[in-house]
Amino acid sequence: MNVSTDRRLMALLSLTAADALGAATEFSTPAALEQKFGGRLRSYVGGSVFGFAPGEATDDSQMVAATLLGYARQDGLGGILAALCDWAGTHPPDVGALTRSALTSGRLSGGVEAWAASHYQSAGNGGLMRIAATWLAGYSAAVLTQQSVLVTGLTHADPRCIYASVFFTAWLEALSQGETPEAAAQAALDVMDRTEARSILLGGSLFGIEDRAAFAAFGEIERAARAEVRRRVHAGLGAT
Ligand SMILES: [Mg+2]
Repeated sequence: MNVSTDRRLMALLSLTAADALGAATEFSTPAALEQKFGGRLRSYVGGSVFGFAPGEATDDSQMVAATLLGYARQDGLGGILAALCDWAGTHPPDVGALTRSALTSGRLSGGVEAWAASHYQSAGNGGLMRIAATWLAGYSAAVLTQQSVLVTGLTHADPRCIYASVFFTAWLEALSQGETPEAAAQAALDVMDRTEARSILLGGSLFGIEDRAAFAAFGEIERAARAEVRRRVHAGLGAT
């Protein structure tokens, strides 16, 4: 189903505004925030610990924009990677550690190599936080899933990151088709369960010849990764 440009633009502006609204509180615990602000926050607080200006969105939104600019290059995954590297080259106030490491080489396999260098431990949210860009770019169904896997894997190749992104983009698609959040989540979990992310990453040349160990490591933990995403999604739905 084709989602109108207006609707996608609204989603882009909404996520950017929400990111800017939360900039002053990111990386803080509820207890630390209560101490800092003397109770619950009831109005907007400008700025951030990283020096973003009041009203400015953080790296989350900047990477969504960079990904969309990457698509505009019409040069496939290489175009996305180049746009992300260009963004990192502007020395933004905040670049996640794994993202920085992955983008250093400028190779499609940079994300896999950064994950391997972390001994298959690093699984931050840098892929998930920008992955709405694949849906915003107009992809749907199987191609959306494929783009979700590949674009996440450019910087965050842990199966937990990849499958969280696959869930999230499928959820966005189901929501845009008018599903309730619960029904959309179930549909998105079904998409996640049917996805063979490792094959998609291989097809996109994200596993290089040197990355045989990473390919095996991915296979060993992907089942547990899917289960972890499912558990978190159910916990999130239960909390609403
Ligand atoms: Mg951020």
